Amino acid sequence: MLRLAKKVWGRVSQRRPVRGYSFSRPLVGIQSDDWGRVGVRDHQGAHQLRDSGVELGSHPYDSYTLETASDVNALREVLMRHRDSTGRAACIVMNFLSANLDFPRMAASGYKDVHLLPLKQGLPGNWERPGLFSAYQEGVADGVFFPALHGLTHFCPVAVDHALTKGGERAETLHVCWRAETPYIYWRMPWVGYEYRNPGQPREGFLAPAQQEKLIGQAAGFFRDFFSTLPASACAPGYRANHETQRAWSKYGVRVAQNGASLGMPPAIDEYGMLNLYRTLDFEPCYHDVPLEESMKLASDNIVRGLPVIISVHSINFHSSLRDFRSRTLVLLDKFLTALEKRFPNLLYVHDANVYDLVHQGKYNSAQDTISVVVREQELSR
Ligand SMILES: [Zn+2]
Repeated sequence: MLRLAKKVWGRVSQRRPVRGYSFSRPLVGIQSDDWGRVGVRDHQGAHQLRDSGVELGSHPYDSYTLETASDVNALREVLMRHRDSTGRAACIVMNFLSANLDFPRMAASGYKDVHLLPLKQGLPGNWERPGLFSAYQEGVADGVFFPALHGLTHFCPVAVDHALTKGGERAETLHVCWRAETPYIYWRMPWVGYEYRNPGQPREGFLAPAQQEKLIGQAAGFFRDFFSTLPASACAPGYRANHETQRAWSKYGVRVAQNGASLGMPPAIDEYGMLNLYRTLDFEPCYHDVPLEESMKLASDNIVRGLPVIISVHSINFHSSLRDFRSRTLVLLDKFLTALEKRFPNLLYVHDANVYDLVHQGKYNSAQDTISVVVREQELSR
């Protein structure tokens, strides 16, 4: 009975109007997670993992490596080709992990502890990505990349520490990965959790406020060292954030909190003054087909209601070093943006800080112009 009541209430509350912002012009943004984080170290790393008994290949994330300069440049070129009604190029919010595991240092201590290598100091061990860091910076300078904060490592450090201390199968799995200079492969070992949430713990598993604040402070510091600015927007690994996460973000200057796809949720300001944005659709060609008509329907439904369209696409979709995910993604993204421009000739390509400025000032600056949009705060049905 209680379960039924909960179910019915769930349905009602999902449909309940929510307070948020609507906009007089179609806004289109892209948010993308996992940039800067190494995975399987290309063919060499894959061989090493296979030699240790890991049968790779049954899941797209077995081929998650790290973007190359060429991947990043190819994305940049596609975005540069797309222009909104003011002549501004399309822009992708790239959520970065601001550190990697320092594998050689960890090897030296017998993999007993985790050591971090800030992105600014380069890639760990035998990882090589010539030109990658300047490719990021060029896209930022062109205004088509907007760097934001994902976290430090993506996994929950408490969960990993626990596995190391306890020893046994989980510790051995970590050691196998680390010897091949791969931090983890999530779907094979979901017990590593997400940065701020430990799946092995009660209290919904979220880390204590002080722990989260320490992790976010360190991540924001490394981010600043790399990009010479603090992050304005953030997305928690796995979208696992609670109030404490948002509080810590706000302390380090983050003004926009990104949330996973949530149908019809308007942008809204929370108690920390943080603008919460909700993604409109998952655009993940590495996993499944993304039929253009379906994507257009979801986007159009939002635009008709005055809500921004936020396309969610993870960095793996642009990778090519072990498996070519990139070619197909770029073709599909190109088609999707072209279709949006055609159907909504007055659309505006925006990033998270632009939406924040719109909500507060009704205008934002791009390299071309100052753009004004009528913004209304109201109860919106979902
Ligand atoms: Zn992520």
